[in-house]
Amino acid sequence: MKFYSLNNTAPEVSFDIAVVNGIAPDKGLYFPEEIKPLPSSFFEKIESLSNEEIAFTAIQQFVSGLVPDNVLKDILKEVLDFEFPIVEITPNIGTLELFHGPTMAFKDVGARFMAQCLGYFSRSSKNKITVLVATSGDTGGAVANGFLGVKGVNVVILYPSGKVSDIQERQLTTLGQNIKALEVEGTFDDCQAMVKNAFLDKDLLAHMKLTSANSINVARWLPQLFYFLFAYKQAKSKGKEIIFSVPSGNFGNICAGLVAQRLGMPVNHFIAATNVNDTVPQFMSTKEYSPKPSKATISNAMDVGDPSNFIRIRHLFKDNFEELEKNLSSYSFDDNQTKEALKEIYSLNGYIADPHGAVGYLGLKKYQTQYPNTYGIFLETAHPVKFLDIVEETLSEKLEIPAQIKKVMGKTKKSIQISNYEGLKNFLLKS
Ligand SMILES: *Cc1c(COP(=O)(O)O)cnc(C)c1O
Repeated sequence: MKFYSLNNTAPEVSFDIAVVNGIAPDKGLYFPEEIKPLPSSFFEKIESLSNEEIAFTAIQQFVSGLVPDNVLKDILKEVLDFEFPIVEITPNIGTLELFHGPTMAFKDVGARFMAQCLGYFSRSSKNKITVLVATSGDTGGAVANGFLGVKGVNVVILYPSGKVSDIQERQLTTLGQNIKALEVEGTFDDCQAMVKNAFLDKDLLAHMKLTSANSINVARWLPQLFYFLFAYKQAKSKGKEIIFSVPSGNFGNICAGLVAQRLGMPVNHFIAATNVNDTVPQFMSTKEYSPKPSKATISNAMDVGDPSNFIRIRHLFKDNFEELEKNLSSYSFDDNQTKEALKEIYSLNGYIADPHGAVGYLGLKKYQTQYPNTYGIFLETAHPVKFLDIVEETLSEKLEIPAQIKKVMGKTKKSIQISNYEGLKNFLLKS
């Protein structure tokens, strides 16, 4: 299958080139030329399929010809080696836990899938590929873990010194091997600006093949559609109409859910729940898209003022607002509401959510006041321990530290400090 650029001026490319490029040369996001629905028998007998079988059937059309079936099966086996359970909160509400992977955030699946694909594509090339990524916290850990030990790929992660949590810093800096962490004297925006500079630096590009690993990469974006199918498999027997509420930042995850719907998944409505960064909720009520600078919140992985994947959602509905509105609602909530939601979920059945999941819960509740006869699933995108201070303080409870986190707590940080673009360039040219 070919992928085209949403800016329409770059050539169509195959999956491997789309993955290596990340973004098209005309700065457009890549989009598959076709989304072929799966046979209805797939959804009728989905309970009898394993997660690996479901994922294989769903993603095969997008990668066919570039990743042979047996390789794809091996990749999926490695990527999906943990559980994706729905935990019941009330008879009408369940939460889909996406945090059982190595870094305890849902980005693990996309990062691992991309890493395995890139490793496969560069298997016979003598030149290594360098993945350069800036992180404000969660992405770096998932990328570092996903790419660890992948042959032919070096990973360089830039993070703002003193501005990520202790757990997040250890997840980035303690792995070694092909993962290097650069600690930047500055903010996340400084890190991102340096990465952008590097991609435009002809001098540097003459020496090395650079690629990015952010959520616009098709190999990180598409595998997220698995979550919705895994959830559908578990919730189908409820016999009610299923709806999903997705805590959204760059809107990659929810866009993948809408792709699952295009594949034929019988789900008619999605809710994009955001914090006060409400560019999309505003768009859904005014039809006007006005991006703005992001505001800091307690659900910080969603602090995005100009969501990069929203353009893919609009494209999926051919920019027809009425069609979009039938399938998608979007609501925004502030930090106080989020904390109240954490308490409410806890009081319902003792379940401890994280601030991102709590925003998803709020979106679901709001929709269900109008449509009570539905079974709603909100996505729990991170383990609450990743937001320890806020969760413990709000619930007056001590959280147990899971094994994945304990494992990194005892390891020693290794990072290289840089303060400007020259520092980054010198580092890359030497490595
Ligand atoms: C990245 C992230 C999100 C937002 O996902 P998008 O695909 O960018 O909308 C939500 N929650 C957590 C915990 C995240 O790390």
